[in-house]
Amino acid sequence: MTAATLTPCPLFINGTWLRPSLVGTPVYNPSTGDIIAECPVGGAAEVNAAVEAAAAAFPAWRETPAVERARLFFRYRQLVEQNFDRICQCVSREHGKTLAEARGSVYRGIENIEYACGVPSLLFGDTLENLARSVDCETLLQPLGVCVGITPFNFPAMVPLWMFPLALACGNTFVLKPSEKVPLTAVLMIELLEKAGLPKGVLNLVHGGREAVDALLTHPKVRAISFVGSSPIAKYIYETGTRNGKRVQANGGAKNFIVVMPDADMPKTVEALSTAAFGCAGERCMAGSTALTVGAAADRLLPGLLDNARAIKVGPTDRPAQPDMGPVITAQHRDRVLGLVASGEKEGAKVVCDGRGVRLPEAPRGFYLGATIIDQVSPDMTLAREEVFGPVLNVMRMDDLDAAIETANRSAFGNGAAIFTRSGGAAREFKHRVKAGMVGINVGVPATMAMFSFTGWDDSFYGDLHIQGREAVQFYTQQKVITTRWFGGEVDDVWKK
Ligand code: NAD
Repeated sequence: MTAATLTPCPLFINGTWLRPSLVGTPVYNPSTGDIIAECPVGGAAEVNAAVEAAAAAFPAWRETPAVERARLFFRYRQLVEQNFDRICQCVSREHGKTLAEARGSVYRGIENIEYACGVPSLLFGDTLENLARSVDCETLLQPLGVCVGITPFNFPAMVPLWMFPLALACGNTFVLKPSEKVPLTAVLMIELLEKAGLPKGVLNLVHGGREAVDALLTHPKVRAISFVGSSPIAKYIYETGTRNGKRVQANGGAKNFIVVMPDADMPKTVEALSTAAFGCAGERCMAGSTALTVGAAADRLLPGLLDNARAIKVGPTDRPAQPDMGPVITAQHRDRVLGLVASGEKEGAKVVCDGRGVRLPEAPRGFYLGATIIDQVSPDMTLAREEVFGPVLNVMRMDDLDAAIETANRSAFGNGAAIFTRSGGAAREFKHRVKAGMVGINVGVPATMAMFSFTGWDDSFYGDLHIQGREAVQFYTQQKVITTRWFGGEVDDVWKK
């Protein structure tokens, strides 16, 4: 049976596509509000079968030479490229982002596959000859065993691709639990890996919410957990996983500040800020959700920003004529964003571009919000502190760069931050002092590419070794240090005999 023939979203355990025992979570097309699939409510039994399959597959996969493991990902990369449009359509259909946004995110995912293709060089160890007389030392990077990936709704292809290609290339086996809101892309991505020659049990797919996650967090055969999602759940995953002896890297939510200095190139800043705030309908952990304008910058920035925001065409993304911005993920999420905008108004902020009234006759049940700009937001407002995760840009007016940096640094999160300026001095001051793991200078979304780690700080990350890049290689391997002494090089010398 292939995955495509099953209506409820299937599981993939030990190389077999399985019909789930219990379904119950609707998967929506956010553009229309229609239910397009049902996601299983996975439980401990299915998780146990998946982890046992991964554990059984580990010894043989670990012995597979790194160059052969890399070849699986060279083939996979080619298949992902060949099926690129299909994947992007699936992402767009279950998430709601535009096809252009889906394409950008799947490219970002492909870069992670390409990084995994380089695994033979990534797994080089160190050596030191004559550490002491006649003693040499070397390090090996060896896989851990069964690793787990738990992913959010907002990047259905890219975030799983941050995890399983590198984990597998390093010699681990894997269990993926995608978001129950977007499980279909994960099925497609694994079907393609199966076609590329994935051995049985090396990668398994389970579904569900808390029950499935708890079974993964406590399973004795799970060695490491990669998580991406909201901060409260990231913290829970980190605490529960580490308490159960697992290695954990858990990316959380964000509130990213963009400082605009009065000397910034305003037309370019307007474009960058519009993309940072409203791209993917604001459903990005690197969304530039707050502009900290310094001095006269606000009055120079706002007219262009308002023109741009008012011109953004919102619409369904599941048809050939593409809008500029799609819907948000669910009706509940739309209502939460509306509530946060209302709270800002109540606390004294001014909604200067109002996206709340969007009604689309061609898609009356879709989950739409228009681009929204709120001026005169102050640091104590709920809107200024909480992650909104929608197409909403706050504007906070600051007297000087010091005040802007201090305001940004008061946030509980520490994912991204950016500055727009022509001044090298201001940019240096900002990059040195700002409390965020990824910093942009005249770059609105400084999300890192596959070869650099995704370095969130504070409530945006729980753990030690980040996702992507060198730190991820360390995360998915354990180091062995070998100290060697051969007695009496002068006796038993085979070359003299
Ligand atoms: P979420 O935290 O609701 O869900 C993430 C995952 O956790 C899903 O697989 C979900 O099934 C599971 N989960 C949800 N509730 C759970 C519970 N009570 N117990 C155990 N598991 C649970 O996040 P989301 O809404 O899917 O995604 C949006 C969030 O993800 C935003 O906060 C966004 O900033 C964040 N995000 C962060 C990054 C990053 O790299 N820092 C990247 C993308 C998204």
